Amino acid sequence: EEWCKTIPKIELHAHLNGSIRDSTLLELARGLGEKGTIVFSDVEKVILKNDRSLVEVFKLFDLIHLITTDHESVSRITKEVVEDFAAENVVYLELRTTPKRNDSKAMSKESYMQAVVEGLRAVNNVDVDFACKLDAEATGNSHYDNGRYSGAERKKIYVRLLLSIDRRESTEAAMETVKLALQMKHLGVVGIDLSGNPVIGEWKTFLPALKFAKEQGLSITLHSGEVPNAEEVHAMLDFLPGRIGHACYFEEDHWRKLKSSKIPVEICLTSNIRTETIPSLDVHHFADLYSSEHPITLCTDDTGVFSTSLSHEYNLAASAFGLAKKEMYRLARNAVNFIFAGSQVKEELEEMFALASKELE
Ligand code: 5GP
Repeated sequence: EEWCKTIPKIELHAHLNGSIRDSTLLELARGLGEKGTIVFSDVEKVILKNDRSLVEVFKLFDLIHLITTDHESVSRITKEVVEDFAAENVVYLELRTTPKRNDSKAMSKESYMQAVVEGLRAVNNVDVDFACKLDAEATGNSHYDNGRYSGAERKKIYVRLLLSIDRRESTEAAMETVKLALQMKHLGVVGIDLSGNPVIGEWKTFLPALKFAKEQGLSITLHSGEVPNAEEVHAMLDFLPGRIGHACYFEEDHWRKLKSSKIPVEICLTSNIRTETIPSLDVHHFADLYSSEHPITLCTDDTGVFSTSLSHEYNLAASAFGLAKKEMYRLARNAVNFIFAGSQVKEELEEMFALASKELE
């Protein structure tokens, strides 16, 4: 496990509100309990419960949102999530979150996202590169010297944002999220995610917004095949998103289409096992995709909700699929190719990995 912690890693599938520290969630819940908004002891039980079906996971998210959806908490959890990923040597994080409107807190989707950005700015134990290069230089935040990483004592993490469309939302609400993403490109928003309870909503509801996002140059990732829905999986693959997440309930013709399209898959092992979308690791599609050299990347999904970390996911894959250190390192490095940030960031990450591989020798 230690070794998996030391290698540089890239996280491409992490939901903000699924990645909250238990201690923070309990602290925020206790605060609401004292105000009488919730009954703390009931909520504590739900938060500390470990095994959850997919249905229960979405009930938990409703509870988490009740606890976290005010500006101050959103900034705090963002800061902590970035710090936690940086602490285990994640060098590039694509953090996704659903912009939320909460009238009781005078919160709009836009002000929610401003709170997220505040959280990024508040990180102080690691350098965060989240906006365009010019911004980083203007704030004296750049530790690059002639393109070479010069601050060995100071860690650096690139953070880019994906705005999630929740499957409960209407076409109009989805479109609002896409427009917000376009407005926030200069703050590191690189794409759009479609997530939320997979038994709710229809592909055709989200398609206009996703199409528009794609036309406007945003990258797209879709939660695909979390429940059996053959038609939707076909439609999603035909859309040619930049990446997909999960791919659990895929059938023969889906695999064929996926492999010929070369769409990278975000693999979340612990999440799949915990939600029972895959019965056990020995039948997980990681093995087949890995051996057929299909583009894949290991991700956490929800470190808080599933009590995991990216290092743990790497360790799990190494032991479950018998991969050596060298292969794990290659897997980590390969993810550079699937990030939604531009070529400059890719080059800088390549350098980081090259440097780390020298140190590993
Ligand atoms: P947020 O977007 O509020 O920061 O993060 C939590 C949200 O991410 C959930 O309400 C849900 O919409 C989405 N999410 C988190 N984990 C999963 C998952 O495993 N599957 C799907 N489909 N959505 C998820």
